[in-house]
Amino acid sequence: MKLSHKLFVSYLMVIGVSLVVLSIATSFIAPQNFWETLHNRGMGAGNRGGMMEHLEILDAQLDVSVRASVNNALILAGGAAVLTAVIVSWFVSQRIVRPIRAVVDLSQRIASGHYEERLDARTGDELGELMTSFNQMASVLAESETTRRQLLADVTHELKTPLASIKGYMEGLQDNILPAIPETFQIVHREAARLQRLVEDLQELSRVESGQVPIQPQTLDPAQIVQVVVERMQPQFSDKNIALQVEIPPVLPSVRADHDRLEQILTNLLGNALQYSPSAGKVTVCLKPSDHMLDIAVRDTGIGLAPEDRERIFQRFYRVDKSRSRASGGSGIGLTITRYLVEAQGGRIWAESPGPGQGSTFHFTLPAA
Ligand code: ADP
Repeated sequence: MKLSHKLFVSYLMVIGVSLVVLSIATSFIAPQNFWETLHNRGMGAGNRGGMMEHLEILDAQLDVSVRASVNNALILAGGAAVLTAVIVSWFVSQRIVRPIRAVVDLSQRIASGHYEERLDARTGDELGELMTSFNQMASVLAESETTRRQLLADVTHELKTPLASIKGYMEGLQDNILPAIPETFQIVHREAARLQRLVEDLQELSRVESGQVPIQPQTLDPAQIVQVVVERMQPQFSDKNIALQVEIPPVLPSVRADHDRLEQILTNLLGNALQYSPSAGKVTVCLKPSDHMLDIAVRDTGIGLAPEDRERIFQRFYRVDKSRSRASGGSGIGLTITRYLVEAQGGRIWAESPGPGQGSTFHFTLPAA
């Protein structure tokens, strides 16, 4: 049964019950009161004998007449009440049903892909609140749909280049255009390795974004973790002739962070500093307490960043120099994962640089314990 019909039936029930009660009350109480009043008046007037005779004659007629008038009045009132019920239930159901109908219609349109449509939530009542929160839900859905489409486009684009390269080399080998020498196979292997890295990075990004990477904060000594990561990466820096230093003040607060994730963040940032610094450069890790947080900075003397890239490099697949980053196997996802990991631990990450060619500093913060 529709809501408007239910409303109408409920009004009818109220009217029905009222009419039954009213008719019972009037058929028992009203005539009794009427006769009592009439008799009392007759007796009070001192004309008891004549009046009684007169009343007895009129009794039957009056009784019928009183009941008929009461019934007429009830029928009239009942008719007016039913008419009112029809009008009121129609009006109320319009006020309630129309917005609900709009929500139902729009939810079906959103389900069929029209994410940009919204409801006109003008009323300040609960229905208005329902429509406002429905609109908010639609906006979130639209946003995640845009992200999904963008991701699909990005992934397709990223997969295309190495796949086309592998295909080209294999065709060259098949047609004897390319020599079947170790160098050719190495190139094919490098492209396949790039694909593998991209898929692994995507897997990690999806795990981080969907909150599947468990963050277990504990009280940690940041200096000790920095030292461990720096020692582990030292050989790679030495290979490229880049000095790797650590600046740790004598007094430092402990931090609330996940041990493995903190190592992952430092490894990512130091890996980038190594990758984007020419040999004979210098990379420094500085730890500094600041306002209930610990600021960890990775400073390099590398290629630096233009002001417009400082924010964008944290976006998925964004690389300042695509060909350069691709050549070194970069997927443009590392900093996106790093940002998620920092923020999931209650911190913030940002990049600073005086400009291209002048080095850059990546700062991130973690809550002090
Ligand atoms: P990638 O795998 O390409 O390194 P990232 O997400 O780690 O992906 O970095 C995104 C982009 O940010 C890089 O392609 C590079 O252009 C820029 N970038 C990252 N770290 C540095 C750095 N230390 N100095 C200069 N540019 C950097």
